Amino acid sequence: MLHYDVLIVGAGPAGSSAARAAAQAGASVALVERRSAVGVPVRCAEYIPAMLVGQADVGKDYIAQATLGMRSYLHGHRIQDMAAPGYVIHRDKFDQALASAAADAGAHVLLGHCVLGREGGQGSCIMLSTPTGGMISIKAKVVIGADGPHSRVAQWVGLLNTHCLPSIQVRLPLCKTLDHTCIYFDESITAGYAWLFPKGDVANVGLGMLRQRHTPGLRRVLRRFVRGLSALGLVRDEPLSFTGGWIPAGPPRPCVSGDILLAGDAAGHTHPITGAGIFQAVMGGQMAGRWAARAVRENSLDVLQGYADEWNDFYGDVLSHAHKRRLDWEGHNGVLDQSINRFWIGFREYYAAS
Ligand SMILES: Cc1cc2nc3c(=O)[nH]c(=O)nc-3n(C[C@H](O)[C@H](O)[C@H](O)COP(=O)(O)OP(=O)(O)OC[C@H]3O[C@@H](n4cnc5c(N)ncnc54)[C@H](O)[C@@H]3O)c2cc1C
Repeated sequence: MLHYDVLIVGAGPAGSSAARAAAQAGASVALVERRSAVGVPVRCAEYIPAMLVGQADVGKDYIAQATLGMRSYLHGHRIQDMAAPGYVIHRDKFDQALASAAADAGAHVLLGHCVLGREGGQGSCIMLSTPTGGMISIKAKVVIGADGPHSRVAQWVGLLNTHCLPSIQVRLPLCKTLDHTCIYFDESITAGYAWLFPKGDVANVGLGMLRQRHTPGLRRVLRRFVRGLSALGLVRDEPLSFTGGWIPAGPPRPCVSGDILLAGDAAGHTHPITGAGIFQAVMGGQMAGRWAARAVRENSLDVLQGYADEWNDFYGDVLSHAHKRRLDWEGHNGVLDQSINRFWIGFREYYAAS
């Protein structure tokens, strides 16, 4: 059996940021990732706000292009332009840079290792499969679950995301380069939106929405959406690749339980209206890593509550408000013309108290 101060499950932005922070604070750290290579395949539209570059602190080699703002459309008509300086990134390079930084800080990175379960409760052994088909166990003082929206670690402590939205995406050639991201709303995209994020001479085009039995499936809606963009001369309808995934959209909940911390999508820290989660994964991961190392240093699990408090001070109100808006949006049956200003972050009405 291997022994570490801190075991981190998942080498996405949350896990690698946590591993780096915990190792920098002096803890012995294992960062385990079930995939054999960090960051691939990419399941992301790859937009980050500009301020994340400094916060992530892993250079700039992963940047594909800058965007100046976000343009929103309703039923094909432009309804708003918002200044939103950001970048469309090579998400695989970004995740790999974060994992390398964690390794450079002293974290032991184990690729191709999948966490299967744990034996017993707090302070127990975590069982992992190895790339060669074997099994190993790791004992750690603190475990950080950064294993994505369907987190196994969250499941152990009854904190699994129960409400996740499906999303799908296709990469298409762009007819002309763009310096802004585009967001599209209409009633066929239930309580969600479609996006076009430019990445040089290609674009990530996708949608995420509430899946209901009586509404057309995501593939059909995306097909129609892509045909529309192609008819407008924005993209060529020649798919280069497809992807998709799940976006946590449930109510805020605890991110600390005993010796376990949750970060990023595993904690449901993704914005339930925009679906953006990279920024929160990096920020929450860094916080979780620092608090885990401190709990080890002070030999007290009570210290871990500091992570929940710091996270709530930082982002709790944003998430609570966004979740209220999500409930409102999902219960909404009427046309969007009257209500989109309340549901979308680009409008002042979104931020109103009720
Ligand atoms: C289609 C799509 C588009 C998106 N676009 C954007 C966007 O443009 N901008 C944005 O900010 N956010 C976007 N998001 C959300 C963003 O991708 C997530 O919020 C972000 O990846 C969360 O990071 P994370 O580290 O918490 O989780 P993840 O990135 O999901 O990383 C979790 C890691 O844990 C590993 N893992 C899981 N289970 C185990 C296990 N049992 N053992 C070992 N390892 C395990 C996984 O392999 C994975 O590497 C998008 C999401 C989707 C689905």
